[in-house]
Amino acid sequence: MTRYVYDFIEGDRSRADLLGGKGANLAEMTRLGLPVPPGFTVGTDACRAYLATGSPPAGLFAEVDTHLRRVEEQVGRRLGDPHDPLLLAVRSGGRYSMPGMMETILDIGLTDVTVAGLAARTGDARFAWDSYRRLIQMFGRTVHGVPAEEFDHEWAALRATAGPDGPDAAQLRDLVSTYQKIFLRVVGHEFPQSPQEQLRQAVCSVFASWNSARARIYRRREHIPDDLGTAVNVMAMVFGNLGPDSGTGVAFTRDPATGLPGVYGDYLPDAQGEDVVAGIRNTVALPELARLDPASFRQLTGIMATLERHYRDLCDVEFTIERGRLWMLQTRVGKRTAAAAFVIAAQLVDEGLITLDEALCRVSGAQLDQLMFPAFDLAGAPTPLTVGVGASPGAAAGRVVFDSAAATAADGPVILVRRETNPDDLPGMIAAAGVLTARGGKTSHAAVVARGMGRTCVCGADALVIDPQRGEFTVGDRVVRAGEVISIDGTTGRVYPGAVPVQPSPVARYLAGELAPQADPLVAAVHRLLGHADAVRRLGVRANADTAADARRARALGAAGIGLCRTEHMFLGGRRELVERLILADGPDAVAGALAALLPLQRADFTELLAAMDGLPVTIRLIDPPLHEFLPPLHELTARVARTEASGRDPGRDGELLAAVRRMHEANPMLGLRGVRLGLVVPGLFAMQVRAVAEAAAQRVRDGGDPRPEIMVPLVGDVRELAVVRAEAERVLATVPDAPAVPIGTMIEVPRAALTAGQIATQAHFFSFGTNDLTQLTWAFSRDDVEGSFFGAYLERGIFEVSPFESLDTAGVGQLVRLAVAQGRATRPELTVGVCGEHGGDPDSVAFFADAGLDYVSCSPYRVPVARLAAGRAAVAAGTGTSDSR
Ligand code: ADP
Ligand code: MG
Ligand code: MG
Repeated sequence: MTRYVYDFIEGDRSRADLLGGKGANLAEMTRLGLPVPPGFTVGTDACRAYLATGSPPAGLFAEVDTHLRRVEEQVGRRLGDPHDPLLLAVRSGGRYSMPGMMETILDIGLTDVTVAGLAARTGDARFAWDSYRRLIQMFGRTVHGVPAEEFDHEWAALRATAGPDGPDAAQLRDLVSTYQKIFLRVVGHEFPQSPQEQLRQAVCSVFASWNSARARIYRRREHIPDDLGTAVNVMAMVFGNLGPDSGTGVAFTRDPATGLPGVYGDYLPDAQGEDVVAGIRNTVALPELARLDPASFRQLTGIMATLERHYRDLCDVEFTIERGRLWMLQTRVGKRTAAAAFVIAAQLVDEGLITLDEALCRVSGAQLDQLMFPAFDLAGAPTPLTVGVGASPGAAAGRVVFDSAAATAADGPVILVRRETNPDDLPGMIAAAGVLTARGGKTSHAAVVARGMGRTCVCGADALVIDPQRGEFTVGDRVVRAGEVISIDGTTGRVYPGAVPVQPSPVARYLAGELAPQADPLVAAVHRLLGHADAVRRLGVRANADTAADARRARALGAAGIGLCRTEHMFLGGRRELVERLILADGPDAVAGALAALLPLQRADFTELLAAMDGLPVTIRLIDPPLHEFLPPLHELTARVARTEASGRDPGRDGELLAAVRRMHEANPMLGLRGVRLGLVVPGLFAMQVRAVAEAAAQRVRDGGDPRPEIMVPLVGDVRELAVVRAEAERVLATVPDAPAVPIGTMIEVPRAALTAGQIATQAHFFSFGTNDLTQLTWAFSRDDVEGSFFGAYLERGIFEVSPFESLDTAGVGQLVRLAVAQGRATRPELTVGVCGEHGGDPDSVAFFADAGLDYVSCSPYRVPVARLAAGRAAVAAGTGTSDSR
């Protein structure tokens, strides 16, 4: 027979899947001999059965009754005993903590009969009737959805007429009878007078609360699966509302905000747990308990020290004191800020409780990421103008500008405000302190690009009405003009008027070499844990960088080379004209002339880049995007040509450009003439780039440097494409005196390349997974189209837990990665394999890449420390860390 119910003493903390976090930890505390009221847990499998069928599984309540008998024996009271009734708390609690999202019902077991018994036993009739009132309200709301106002209204009325000491027992008894009438009117039947019936209904309604709207929304946000179900904890009630020597509280074993040692918490004398949440009276700081009840305080701090040693981590607890006797109602490893996570992990190493390996696993790349951004000093911040989506963390203040040109022209910090951004806004995004858009979510262009650059971004602030022509935006009736200062918080999404003071991140200053590691406890902790990550990780970390400035920054942040230099960025700006010449060239001589003009510019870029990364590998990708991306947009040209023609002049070059744009128009440029295909059909284009690389490297060699360029061919799908390009590249390399050996490899970003990686490796010195395109092409997603149109719905409906562009789809795209690594290395055991998509900086994806046996990840410079940390954690998780305890 299936078993669903476990006494606290039978469980332990390893069984949270079955018992839920709360139940498993109550079991653990019971085992430790701590004062936990007796009880039992109904496992999550009973909830899953209930949710699947709509009714409790057969035999469940018979089993509950058996366990209830044992609780009755331990407490020495029976449920429903008219003279001395046992009361029960029925508490939800799933595998993962979902604070306040599901239901808990207290004081189960009170009826018109037992209420008198409770009054007699406690000698406090007022307390007994007050408890009954609480039960009817909680039970009515939770089990039958009676709106809280129905009861609150009466309660408020009574409190208004009661004396200074609050309502007396008789008044509360009358209130209970009013509550029962409300219950009857709204629910359609009497409040149940059978304690067993109350218990059964309470258990079922806790099951059902798993699927409440707020619980579902919370799970989606926290990426908690929808099919786990909740456990139900049934335990004896203890009473914090039995007078001044009773009370209830919550506490942390260290400061959850800063991580610093000490006892933190709140205590509310003469109260039951829900009063703390309701904020009916003000709590006192926990140290006050030392004065009110020194014995309980000592016992509590002793228990907290025990728990911390036992769990080897920060714990939080909920406790109740009933007439001077302390009871523990809950504990768990406590939530904490990112800063506290680092500080606590390092402290616990010093205290000998955990190893450095464990400490590393206690902090995450996402937390380090948060700590690298500046933050607003919120004391005295004004009311926000509006709130959008916090898309790229950080705090930025600056004058409002509405276009890229104004952003680049301005001196002093600016906030670029756009309805949405596109690739043409890039210079403005680079120049701005922050980006604010009215449209788009966390995967919009603005969000993705800003995160990649470490630029603060708030997007989707849909209350903004932007009018660039008038140079203003409005939020409701508030008008903000170009040049006015606003502040945006990329973590919370808040947009403030004026300049909110910003505090630079000490962690970022340390990582940039501006602060000593001992500057403060947080910086010291980051220094230590990141150092350990570097010591244990197998996975190298490179950066994606196109300029020498980015390369220097990346190197300072710990990058061991460049994994992706996008040469197309070198064709933008003032050089567009040269590219236009190339595209318009008719005949081989004109093409050669245009390429010859580009050569010295490329060479100079590469020389600088190789100097910045001297001694480290620099992977240079040959031009990738379709050439028409370098031409003006069709509608712009059409308009320009039409204007010129209307005024009777010859459109000249514009006319030629327009013809070229029309000629090159592609229905689906992502799948068109780009990458290696371009190199194969535009004679001399790749050769020019290869020559620029070789000549730059040769120059560096002559200058005494140690250049290590690598040439990478994009969008290869077949080994023959690569073979042709490689042969041509090697011919060029051979003609450049002093050039070092230059490995030639390929992106693996087309599914066919992954599937034929064994063949491709015959021609490639290295692979680099382009996981952005590989994701697009594996899913048949055009990123620009899908993110805006239906990703929201997919996330909403649980088809994705996270966008596959944010975190690698390991089940699908990841399989192609594994396959290609295995086949590539089978052909060429010394093959170097890396990844250069955005996933290279995503902590979860980094863990996957480590496991897949890659040699390195390459990510934007700002994410290098995050990737280092994630790679260290991955090594520990794979069992290849050290167990060094210091
Ligand atoms: P949540 O998960 O929302 O914190 P809990 O199940 O912890 O819900 O219950 C909320 C509050 O109910 C607790 O903080 C505690 O004060 C009170 N409570 C829970 N169990 C008992 C009990 N056995 N006796 C008295 N009060 C209890
Ligand atoms: Mg709780
Ligand atoms: Mg690509």
